[in-house]
Amino acid sequence: MPFKHVALLGLGLIASSIALALRERFPEIKITGFSRSEKTRKKAKKIGFCQVHDTVANCVSEADLVIICVPVGAMKDTMRIAAPHLAKGVVVSDVGSVKSSVIKTINTIIPKGIPFVPAHPIAGTENSGPEAGFSTLFNGRWCILTPTTQTPIEATKKVKEFWESLGAQVKEMDANHHDLVLSVTSHAPHLIAFTMVGVADEFSKVTKSEVINYSAAGFRDFTRLAASDPIMWRDIFINNKDAALEILGRFTEELFALQSAIRRKDSKFLQEYFERTRKVRRSIIEAGQDTPKENFGREGR
Ligand code: NAP
Repeated sequence: MPFKHVALLGLGLIASSIALALRERFPEIKITGFSRSEKTRKKAKKIGFCQVHDTVANCVSEADLVIICVPVGAMKDTMRIAAPHLAKGVVVSDVGSVKSSVIKTINTIIPKGIPFVPAHPIAGTENSGPEAGFSTLFNGRWCILTPTTQTPIEATKKVKEFWESLGAQVKEMDANHHDLVLSVTSHAPHLIAFTMVGVADEFSKVTKSEVINYSAAGFRDFTRLAASDPIMWRDIFINNKDAALEILGRFTEELFALQSAIRRKDSKFLQEYFERTRKVRRSIIEAGQDTPKENFGREGR
């Protein structure tokens, strides 16, 4: 663990999980945290996963690692408030789900000479807030670092060690490539889930049918994704517009191909398509990124 004092700006799911993982593995490390609302600060104080401060200045002024853990659209203001209070020798990082726009924003504000190492832990749940965190969130999951040519190699190395020490596997990637990959694996699936749940909601209003009571597993899986934090997802689509539109374009083409196959009763096309997609699920399990247990290991129906 290359850091002695970690400051967390934002105290939601990701920040609280970082703090809990640190506390469990490195009890000697000082962890300070700040959240803009008194309500969240109170909750975090009650749970007790870090020293909660009432100002950004007090939270960051002695830290050797500052991690920005707020929605992507709020990173600019958060960095602007923290900038004058950063200690000499500090490394700044983030956990934002979009990387290119965050890098552009932070690089215009961060004081000269302070390294910024952009990071994105590919781990999360649909829950938010300080109560949602848990210490094993990052175990075996990937954390993608997207350093630029301006990022000092030594700082990137330290942030890599930090995430590895929390149980994550670390991969370095170009920021634009990250944004495209995550569009496929996370952003588009969420948008499709938001749409499907929106359609079902509209359908149930129009037909008065009981979508909620009789929801089947497929729809319930969509509702889990569609229950994710609205602000976080608003910011992801606004800040990753090009990649999101590119993937949605491809998605629409595939949807039309499937629609046409259904209309033509093309059994061969449909079966081969579904066999191919079934293999994707198997490969995710083989890569250790999900459980082979039935119903994602959840209890009940
Ligand atoms: P969260 O649980 O909703 O917590 C958000 C935190 O940001 C809270 O402390 C909140 O403060 C603060 N915040 C919200 N709006 C703000 C604003 N306008 N200005 C300043 N602070 C603001 O969020 P999270 O899930 O931990 O996500 C944090 C970051 O991690 C996001 O950038 C997200 O893209 C990224 N991420 C999320 C996941 C996931 O699955 N959730 C996974 C990987 C990365 P108050 O509560 O005091 O308002």
